[in-house]
Amino acid sequence: MSNTPLYCEKIFPVFPWDEIDVVLLDMDGTLLDKHFDDYFWEQYLPEHYSLSQDISVAQAKKQLLERYHKVKDTLDWADLDFWSRELGLDLQELKMRINHLIGVHPYVIEFFEFCLQSKKKLYLITNAHTQSLSMKLQKTAIGPWFDRIICASEVGAAKEEPAFWEKLENTIAYDKQRTLLVDDTEKVLFTAREYGLGYLLYVARPSSRSRVQYSCNFPSIEYFKELLPR
Ligand SMILES: [Mg+2]
Repeated sequence: MSNTPLYCEKIFPVFPWDEIDVVLLDMDGTLLDKHFDDYFWEQYLPEHYSLSQDISVAQAKKQLLERYHKVKDTLDWADLDFWSRELGLDLQELKMRINHLIGVHPYVIEFFEFCLQSKKKLYLITNAHTQSLSMKLQKTAIGPWFDRIICASEVGAAKEEPAFWEKLENTIAYDKQRTLLVDDTEKVLFTAREYGLGYLLYVARPSSRSRVQYSCNFPSIEYFKELLPR
């Protein structure tokens, strides 16, 4: 879901790479084009819901938006089983039908290579449901780049919740002050900052179809190219 537009000047990222051992990367919007998710939730699913409920697409959109809002920032939001039950539709099947829209953002692989060469530990940390995650990993083949892939459902809280960050310490060993988190959700970055994570970076172009919007609070990038040595 898009946030209220508010224009801010770009804060350019300057990271002391020697002081960063661990890089935590969000998946949807950060590494992968969020156009797939936006299209699915905002267009494709409402169309199917309107057919199944015999209501207009506009009504379906309105009803779904209200439902989305109720579980925003919780694990239910990303839980395909939850939505399949709630809506009486097979969301996994619907997502599969448009999986050609799943794509990796430009320069992501080059950034993985940079992290590997500079001996950073690389973790994918995502709120995505295990079914969505495996579909995307299958489609994009980015899985092998990571030391480990961590689902919020495995940790027991969404990344927006402070509990996620406390519990993550039981899942992976890392020095939070020597860790960089990259995410396209500002609320996640705020929660991580509160917890004491050392370095935070916002992705200002999560979808190839929407305009760039810089964070007013964190350094931003449009492409991972900006983090690569010249
Ligand atoms: Mg994201």
